[in-house]
Amino acid sequence: MKRKLFVGVMILCLVVFVSAMRSDLAYGSRKFVSIASGWVVGVYFPLAGALSRIAHEKLPDIKITVESSGASVANAKLIASGDADLAILQNDIAFYALQGTKPMFDKAVPNIRGVAALYPEACHIHARKDAKIASVRDLKGKKVAVGPLGSGTEQNAIQILEAYGLKFEDLSKVERLSAAESADYLKDGRIDAAFYTVGVGASAIVDPALMIETLIVPIDGAEADALVKKYPFYAKDRIPAGIYKGIGDVPTVAVLAILVAKAEMEEDMVYRITKAMWENISRIETAHAKGKEVKLEKALIGMPIPLHPGADKFYKEKGLKK
Ligand code: GLU
Repeated sequence: MKRKLFVGVMILCLVVFVSAMRSDLAYGSRKFVSIASGWVVGVYFPLAGALSRIAHEKLPDIKITVESSGASVANAKLIASGDADLAILQNDIAFYALQGTKPMFDKAVPNIRGVAALYPEACHIHARKDAKIASVRDLKGKKVAVGPLGSGTEQNAIQILEAYGLKFEDLSKVERLSAAESADYLKDGRIDAAFYTVGVGASAIVDPALMIETLIVPIDGAEADALVKKYPFYAKDRIPAGIYKGIGDVPTVAVLAILVAKAEMEEDMVYRITKAMWENISRIETAHAKGKEVKLEKALIGMPIPLHPGADKFYKEKGLKK
């Protein structure tokens, strides 16, 4: 009896040991890839989450972990330091990163490589109706959130104000809040307006528009023309009516969101992630309304930096590139 019990316990121990070893092996052989995304109330974050789920289902040896961040400028710096393997950021900021454009970058980010152009990000200036801001010029003397620290939004705010002859010093208060905070501040009247360069339909703008009366300040006319001429990454765009409660069709300018990788990532890994993303694009489409605009045929349009060799291989195979 004692002997049988002993043998039983030994077998049980062996089973536990072997299964622990196996899961340890599976864990050990998995490669961790981090993606720097953006604001939880933005669009990068849900799309990066969708990419992570695609990897989980289709690439069992790769685990993509999603980090939220201030966004574009911070993400380019995470690529430079090697702390992020992949990132989503604005195409204007990716170009400035590669060049090392000051004051955003004190040094160039030579290892930033393109994977895919994703969708347009509209420059929104979301204002309280009671702040009576009909034109960008009316921001003079107002309390304004100019974008989170490390955002691309802040750079766009500087350039847009400049096109209207304004500087941060002309505002009565310059706030650098997270996108979620600035939405709250706008609701509470602690700020009059907030800048967001983000895919149309981001909850940072949808939510306050449901609670208080707001408008989006147009960026158009000669000022928009001058802006697009001076900074060619901007394209003229419109925010359609019906996206934000009480807000009609508004002219503005937009840049592009792009997916990038650090040059040091293995070619095969970037190739497989690129392929898995495009082959499972329905995951991206359902993660956020903007995901429906992510299209393979537009993957290389507006890409301002050299492609990662893994992505390059995929697009050549697809005949998108020679
Ligand atoms: N384009 C934004 C920025 O870099 C981030 C938008 C997002 O997180 O979706 O400022």
